[in-house]
Amino acid sequence: MSEKPIGVAVLGLGNVGTEVVRIIEESAADLEARIGAPLQLRGIGVRRVAKDRGVAEELLTDDIEKLVSRDDVDIVVELMGPVEPARKAIMAALEGGKSVVTANKALMAQSTGELAQAAEKARVDLYFEAAVAGAIPVIRPLTQSLAGDSVVRVAGIVNGTTNYILSAMNDTGASYESALADASALGYAEADPTADVEGYDAAAKAAILASIAFHTRVTADDVYREGITKVSAEDFASAKALGCNIKLLAICERLVSGKGKQRVSARVYPALVPLDHPLASVNGAFNAVVVEAEAAGRLMFYGQGAGGAPTASAVMGDVVMAARNRVQGGRGPRESKYAKLPIASIGAIPTRYYVNMNVKDQPGVLSAVAAEFSRHEVSIAEVRQEGMTDPEGEPCGARIVVVTHRATDAALSDTVKALAELDVVQDINSVLRMEGSDS
Ligand code: NAP
Repeated sequence: MSEKPIGVAVLGLGNVGTEVVRIIEESAADLEARIGAPLQLRGIGVRRVAKDRGVAEELLTDDIEKLVSRDDVDIVVELMGPVEPARKAIMAALEGGKSVVTANKALMAQSTGELAQAAEKARVDLYFEAAVAGAIPVIRPLTQSLAGDSVVRVAGIVNGTTNYILSAMNDTGASYESALADASALGYAEADPTADVEGYDAAAKAAILASIAFHTRVTADDVYREGITKVSAEDFASAKALGCNIKLLAICERLVSGKGKQRVSARVYPALVPLDHPLASVNGAFNAVVVEAEAAGRLMFYGQGAGGAPTASAVMGDVVMAARNRVQGGRGPRESKYAKLPIASIGAIPTRYYVNMNVKDQPGVLSAVAAEFSRHEVSIAEVRQEGMTDPEGEPCGARIVVVTHRATDAALSDTVKALAELDVVQDINSVLRMEGSDS
C-alpha cells in the first residue's frame, strides 16, 4: 500500500466546494483506507480570500493558476461554475499532468473534445459524475456498468427547479407564475430562473448523457429544447383527465431506420407522462433517470439531483476513483466517441401529441378538426370535447383536446398550422408531447 499522499486542490468554496472540503477533512481516515494513501488538501481557489470562510485561511488563494500548477497537487477539483475561468484552469491542470474532477455541466456540455484529448495526452483522469443529476450515479453506470451492453434510450427528470414547479402545479392547480414565485421564495429557483425554466440546464445534461450513452459527441447546441413557461393550469387539468402528469423530460435516444441506419436524438421538453410510468411519480426537487439497454432492459436511478452535500457525494466518488488510480498507477475509462452517429433533427422524431384548442360550438366542428389530422396523416387516439362558459355563465364555444398516436414533429406542426387557419378554431391553447406510452 502506497503511503505517498495524494494532493488535492479544490477550486471554489461555494455550495458544493464547502461540502467537498468538509468531507475531505472529516472523513480523512476512511478516505485514506479506501484510497490506500492519505488525501491532502493543498489549497482552495476562491475570489475572496478572508478569515471568515470557515477553513484555515492559509489554504485559500485567489491565484488559481499557481494553485493548479503546484508540484504537490495530483488532483484538481473544479467547483467554480462558469465555463470560464473553469475551462482554462482545467486545461492547465490536465496539461500539467493532474487528474481533474468537475461538476461543471455547462462546460462539459460545450466541450468539443479538447478537455478529453488533453486528459488522454497526459494519461490522467477527467471525471464529471456530479455534472448530471447531483448525487445520482448515472455517468459511471453508463460508462462502466453498461459498457458491454447497447443503450437504446435515456430519459430523465434532470432539473430539480422545474420539477418542483411542475409538481406544485400538479398538486395545487396553481398557475406557472404562482408556482415559480413560490419556488423562488423557498430558494428552489434562482433570482434569474432562465437556465432552468427554459430548459438550458436540462439540455446541457441531455448532451452529456447522449454523448456517453451513444459514444457520439453531442453538445448542448445539438439538443432540441423547449422550456416549461407555457405549461398552464389547464394543461394539468387535461393531463389529469387523461391519466397523466406533466414533466420536463430530457430524452436521449438511439434511432434505427428501416435500413439499419442509426441516429441520435437528444431533446428536452415538457411532456404528458402516464401515471403508471416511473417518471410520473418523481416529485418535488428530486431527479430520476431511466436507462433502457438492449440486454439489461429498464434501469431506474432516483435521488437528489442538486444541493451542496448530495453533489459533493458524487464529486468525492470521482476524487476517490482518481486517487486510487494514482496510487495503483492506472486510469479510468477514456472518452469513447467512436460511433460518431449523426444527430436526428426534431422534425423526424415520432412521438404522441396532446393538442388543446378552443373552437366554435357549432355542428361539424369535430369533423372539420378530425379532417385536418387525417389530411396530414396524424392518427387520433382520443378526443375530449367540453362546453365553455363566459364569466356571466353564458355558453361561449367549446374546448377540444386531441391525443394522437405517434406522428412526426413535422406532420404535427403542419397539422397545427392548418388547424389554426380553420374558421371554426378560435385558439390553439397548447401543444404538448406525450411520452412513456407505446401506441
Ligand atoms: P457557488 O456556490 O456559486 O460557488 C462558486 C465558488 O467558485 C465560489 O466559492 C467562488 O469564490 C468560486 N469562484 C467563482 N469564480 C471564480 C474565479 N474566477 N476565481 C476563483 N474562484 C471563483 O457554486 P456551486 O453551487 O457550489 O456550484 C459549483 C459547480 O457545481 C458549478 O459548476 C455548478 O454548476 C455545479 N453543480 C452545482 C450543484 C448545486 O446543487 N449547487 C449541483 C450540480 C452541479 P467566492 O466564494 O470567493 O466568490
